[in-house]
Amino acid sequence: MPAPLIIAIDGPSGVGKTTTSRMVARELGIPHIDTGAMYRALAVAATREGIDTHDSAALEQLAHRVRIDFIAGEPPRVLLNDEDVTSLIRTPEMSMAASNVSAVPAVRRVLVRLQQDLGRRGGGVLEGRDIGTKVFPETPFKFFLTARPEVRAQRRHDELAAKGEEVDYDAILAATVARDDQDSNRADSPLRYDDSYTVVDTSDLDIPAVVNAIVNGVRART
Ligand code: C5P
Repeated sequence: MPAPLIIAIDGPSGVGKTTTSRMVARELGIPHIDTGAMYRALAVAATREGIDTHDSAALEQLAHRVRIDFIAGEPPRVLLNDEDVTSLIRTPEMSMAASNVSAVPAVRRVLVRLQQDLGRRGGGVLEGRDIGTKVFPETPFKFFLTARPEVRAQRRHDELAAKGEEVDYDAILAATVARDDQDSNRADSPLRYDDSYTVVDTSDLDIPAVVNAIVNGVRART
């Protein structure tokens, strides 16, 4: 049996990873696996239990105690102990809380194993921060999306505004920079890329152009 097709899409927040990954997955007929959603679900669990998202020992215990499932589909759903928490994970509070919990090595071990199991089962477009460096370092298909922080903050702003939320651009820019800084400077699996990645600066590209670049890159080599 041929090895499942794994495509790694890494990059900072607000760079368009989710929309891009969803479209690439659809084009190639494989699942879209949003690994950030899993860290977010664990952040929801911690918040509900009143666990400080910097308390490594408590988070390690929590990661072993709760069950997180990811169900690929349109839209993908994330379950916490069988409860669908998809609608709770996308708040600014959960973004920072997810970044905090994801810095704990034991949390990463549990969730990386889940991501590897999912990918090995049916292949997938996996989006995250460490897919090409830690989760599936052996895949030849690694893409790192970047964009200027101001562009990313503006996209996040527009996304939230479209949902009718009250938004402040400067606050979003500050939160974007703070979260990227934390994700890039943590000891375990920092947000990084190396020579094995194709880097795509999306600042001045629309999503279909990014999707085409990735799909064509993959098709040319399969
Ligand atoms: O991608 P998303 O913004 O939903 O991710 C939320 C947080 O989860 C990120 O800020 C990052 O700290 C963490 N994360 C991670 N590794 C991944 C995916 C997400 O550390 N593979």
